[in-house]
Amino acid sequence: MTASSIEAADWRSTRPPAELEASSAPEIAVEEVPLCAVCGSDRFASHAVAFDYELQTCRNPWRFVHCNACGHVRLHPRPAVSTLSVIYPPTYYSYHYETDIHPIAVRAKAILDRSKLRGILSALERPPQSYCDVGCGSGRFLRQMAGLGIPRSNIHGLELDAAVLEPLAKEGFRVFAERVEDCREIPDGSLDLVTMFHVIEHVADPGAVIERIAGWLAPGGVFAIETPNLDGLDARLFARTYWGGYHVPRHWNLFRPETLGRMLRDRGLEVVAMRQQTGHSFWMYSLHHWLRFEGHPHPGLARWFDPFQSVAILASFTAFDRLRALLGMRTSAMLLLARRPGGG
Ligand SMILES: [Zn+2]
Repeated sequence: MTASSIEAADWRSTRPPAELEASSAPEIAVEEVPLCAVCGSDRFASHAVAFDYELQTCRNPWRFVHCNACGHVRLHPRPAVSTLSVIYPPTYYSYHYETDIHPIAVRAKAILDRSKLRGILSALERPPQSYCDVGCGSGRFLRQMAGLGIPRSNIHGLELDAAVLEPLAKEGFRVFAERVEDCREIPDGSLDLVTMFHVIEHVADPGAVIERIAGWLAPGGVFAIETPNLDGLDARLFARTYWGGYHVPRHWNLFRPETLGRMLRDRGLEVVAMRQQTGHSFWMYSLHHWLRFEGHPHPGLARWFDPFQSVAILASFTAFDRLRALLGMRTSAMLLLARRPGGG
């Protein structure tokens, strides 16, 4: 038996927490991910083993590995494509739209969104004429950009959940229920700004996605990409299994500024800025999972840290991470701004 197969046998026998074990959650099919998405190396070591603590869609143990050559972290193995409807149940998407969150949180989010867009636009050295949001959800960033005077016919949105796109199409936005890799409607070299918030960690081939987006950008155009940051304090504190940013088994690639920066540069983009982003839900889910599943579970206490049930705590974690960002510390998520060279 080789060293790696002993390690493999060991993590696969990790028992689920009692609550998950007693549930009807199935064991689902997996597929191997032999190569690092950033550098192509096949050498790796174990990073973390975790369960679907958040939605309990399946009972498998899941393992993240880090690449021995470049440090990039990926889920290996990951759910087989045939299981996507299991790990993304019908209720999943609604969790990620603001309609389900408390109205105070919605207003706070709108203010944070505006300041985030202002920061992104400062990297574009001209007024934007065209825009695409990859993973546009119910379209809040599309509407913000329309509010800045960009014609809706130049504002694009991609979202896999076709139902949410209908009203956006009626409002005149150009929306497509397609993956980036399959979308042929956006001409190369045509976009001033592309944003992709918390999508890259879900996709099977992040390099192919970034390459396609880099192609869409006009010379001087900006790509803003946001994803969990493995270097954040919460990621390090809860590294063993409970970090909310693992979002097991739906996050397939996890980055730090160095690995994401390399992936952008390898596709011809210049990284012009890295901003710390707040990640209240990662803090809350980390604490929630720890209280609910570690040792003697505390489900009642854990509920206080469910981001959809506790607006006050959500707000305080946002404030905490925002303060950390102001102090220059590494927070739960990062936003990288990359530019296509040229354009004066
Ligand atoms: Zn690598």
